[in-house]
Amino acid sequence: MKPIILIAPPQAGKAILSKKLVEVYNLPHISTGDLLRAEVASGSTFGQELKAKMDAGLLIEDATMIQLILNRISEEDAANGYILDGFPRTLAQAKAYDEALAAKNLEAGNIFVLEIPFELALKRVVGRVVCPKCGASYNTILAETLPKVEGICDLCEAELVKRSDDNEEALTKRYQVYGEDTEPIIEYYEPTGRLHHINSEAKEIAFNQVAEILGKDN
Ligand code: AMP
Repeated sequence: MKPIILIAPPQAGKAILSKKLVEVYNLPHISTGDLLRAEVASGSTFGQELKAKMDAGLLIEDATMIQLILNRISEEDAANGYILDGFPRTLAQAKAYDEALAAKNLEAGNIFVLEIPFELALKRVVGRVVCPKCGASYNTILAETLPKVEGICDLCEAELVKRSDDNEEALTKRYQVYGEDTEPIIEYYEPTGRLHHINSEAKEIAFNQVAEILGKDN
């Protein structure tokens, strides 16, 4: 199967879609955020440098990210396709990635842009409560994800809590950063015919749209 790139604003359901794609297509999920966090956790000097930048909300240099991804996709489990999550994040990364693949005669694959209205993202964020014990997530505004008993985790009966950054101000800031970083990447891929806009308001519908496109193109 050709590789997949997922691009999504905050709260668009990228994690849920990735999980479903991994299950159904048996592809490795390559998240640059996870790769960087693993390097930080290793305690290396390089990891400490990364941590300082990540904590400050800064992007890691393009050259580092490109090398990281090229190394990762050359591993054996990525030989039959993979899902890229969090890369490319800048136009320079997108261009370098395309060039590196073209040089190896590899297909760049499909790019899916998940789309939801800001109002729905806001409901997802403002209504979200999480279980501090098992990590399960619920929503007090959206009927389909209400906990069975108000304020209590269905799975382990712990008291649900709100995260400090789950508020309108933080979401608005993350949306702004997404717009600035990502709009140029979408514009760059648009003319290639490889970019697909996915309505991501409901998770099943989003997955079905992606599956239909993958079914035609693989
Ligand atoms: P994420 O988990 O995708 O939100 O990434 C966490 C942090 O890792 C980001 O805030 C950046 O500091 C860094 N990061 C992840 N992916 C990239 C990328 N493609 N380019 C630059 N920095 C990245």
